[in-house]
Amino acid sequence: MSKVYWYSQKDSQSGESLSNDIKTKVAIIGGGMAGLSCAQKLNEAGIQVVLIERDFCGSGASGKTSGFITPDSEIELSSLLDSYGAKKAKRIWEFVLSGVGIIRKNIISRGISCDYQVQDSLFIANNSRGFKHVKEEHEARKQLGYSSTLHDSLIGIIGSTKYAGAVRYPETFGINSYLYCLGMRDKLRESGVTIYEKTAALQIDANIIFTPGGKITADHIIVCADRFIPDLGALKKEIYHVQTFLGISQPLEPDQIKEIFPAEPMMVWDTDLVYNYFRLTGDNRLLIGGGDVLYTYAQNITENTARFEKRLKNYIEKKYPNIKLELEYVWPGMLGVSKDLLPIMGPDKSNNAVYYVGAASGLPWAAAMGSYAADRIINGRSEFDLDFSPDRHFIIGSRIQSLLSTPLTYAVSNGIAKYF
Ligand SMILES: Cc1cc2nc3c(=O)[nH]c(=O)nc-3n(C[C@H](O)[C@H](O)[C@H](O)COP(=O)(O)OP(=O)(O)OC[C@H]3O[C@@H](n4cnc5c(N)ncnc54)[C@H](O)[C@@H]3O)c2cc1C
Repeated sequence: MSKVYWYSQKDSQSGESLSNDIKTKVAIIGGGMAGLSCAQKLNEAGIQVVLIERDFCGSGASGKTSGFITPDSEIELSSLLDSYGAKKAKRIWEFVLSGVGIIRKNIISRGISCDYQVQDSLFIANNSRGFKHVKEEHEARKQLGYSSTLHDSLIGIIGSTKYAGAVRYPETFGINSYLYCLGMRDKLRESGVTIYEKTAALQIDANIIFTPGGKITADHIIVCADRFIPDLGALKKEIYHVQTFLGISQPLEPDQIKEIFPAEPMMVWDTDLVYNYFRLTGDNRLLIGGGDVLYTYAQNITENTARFEKRLKNYIEKKYPNIKLELEYVWPGMLGVSKDLLPIMGPDKSNNAVYYVGAASGLPWAAAMGSYAADRIINGRSEFDLDFSPDRHFIIGSRIQSLLSTPLTYAVSNGIAKYF
């Protein structure tokens, strides 16, 4: 039951693992969205690249997701505008939009089969307080020149009377991100990228990565391991994780789909602090996600998902009393986050050969970050070095974090980043 539904769609067919010592120009650790996007960019520039992944590509957060490809993830445009002002908010938004573009372009031009579903995004208000938030998001989008429609009535758009309004916008889509990762892995191999799966980086020393099967010597080492970066001894205070839960229903009947989405399917998430989200897949299943504060910042993965199966079903029943949902699979997943919900990128403090990419909090972010890290090597790109530096100022610094504990520090800091 708590198996990832996507895994039932295709075998991950792990490729060969590293079994000797090798040398390369660039070595990437981690075969999620960030690592694969980084490898792609380097390969397109003709740079020799080896990627190692400790399990199979997509086995981290990237292959477990709900596949909402929108620039919104943990942080909205209105929050960026409030915190950083128009110029910087727009710059950051364009960065994450470039990640949306990378994923879209790969699906279309490389023919990656991953249940590509073009659907508008609908950020939906649970109540009048939520509507205020949704309205702010609409205004931020308008102010910065992005298309947006504010709905104070959802009749004909969403078949539930339990919401107070929404902001809607286009140019977003849903994917099966597990199939995307496997597809990209195979395309990259065809293009000459060497990818070793079942190959864990145990330690990095100077410009050498040690793995159980051999050493990799590289001019540059890019660590795209997201929430696992602290396991390699770095950024222990700067990167933690949040946990969310996903469920997928049996295929819905046409009248059930019409009841939920009277006009057309959309990718929906609501205004609660630990938000619920849902969308329709290509095989007409309702994918629904959510969590609760108690488990969001848990140290370890919650394998017993019974509580969340009930919660997700209750959510749909509350919003759509006529829909009785059976969930075929429910699974947990953790993703890396920073305290202010912006990503973390930067060189190792004492080893210039090593560069970290983590706390993406979203697939488009991870794609844009992987590409950026590659572009630093190819073209010396640097315009986001300060914005996403692990050394930037955080409201709760490392001394108070030690007193408060990491989970509490992140719960408080993330709440502030999102809502104040
Ligand atoms: C349940 C769930 C739902 C989500 N839904 C969405 C969504 O709808 N939309 C969205 O935009 N985002 C979503 N996210 C967030 C998104 O998945 C992540 O932010 C993103 O995938 C991070 O990508 P990444 O490549 O940085 O990390 P990962 O995908 O975690 O990749 C890191 C990789 O590094 C590997 N690794 C770690 N340590 C080592 C080592 N020592 N040696 C070798 N390899 C190593 C791991 O095995 C892993 O494959 C969701 C996340 C979860 C968990």
